[in-house]
Amino acid sequence: MIMKTKELTTASPIDKLVGRLDNAKHGGNGQWRAKCPVHQGENSKGRTLSVKETDTGSVLIKCFAGCTVDAVVSQLGLCLNDLFPPEKYTNYAKYVSKPAGRSRVYIKDETCLNIYILDIAVGLIQKGTQLTEEELEYCSVAVQRLKELHHE
Ligand SMILES: [Zn+2]
Repeated sequence: MIMKTKELTTASPIDKLVGRLDNAKHGGNGQWRAKCPVHQGENSKGRTLSVKETDTGSVLIKCFAGCTVDAVVSQLGLCLNDLFPPEKYTNYAKYVSKPAGRSRVYIKDETCLNIYILDIAVGLIQKGTQLTEEELEYCSVAVQRLKELHHE
């Protein structure tokens, strides 16, 4: 891709990711399919990787062959933080803390997002990876939000 470097410095998480994936195809609704950079060979044409942008601008990644999220991300030269827009996430967390006007779907999505954050963190810890302060902050926000959601 041309102008890749410049785009990547200011890009949203989904653009950063998709810009680095081979064989990426947009499937609508913020969803992409692409070649998994971890397990698929040079000439493999399949799209085993599913990438989805959430309402908050965070990115969910799933390899249907079972590659871990951090394996995929590090193969692309990115890190876990690149999946989340820090400011947007914080603003979003504040926004959804307001009790009024939240739909059921919204709550479900937010629960999924927070579980996802913790899931990645646990995976990293299990592998002996030291989490950054920012990543720990995501985790504590996620735990807090899950507790709140549990009481709603
Ligand atoms: Zn894979």
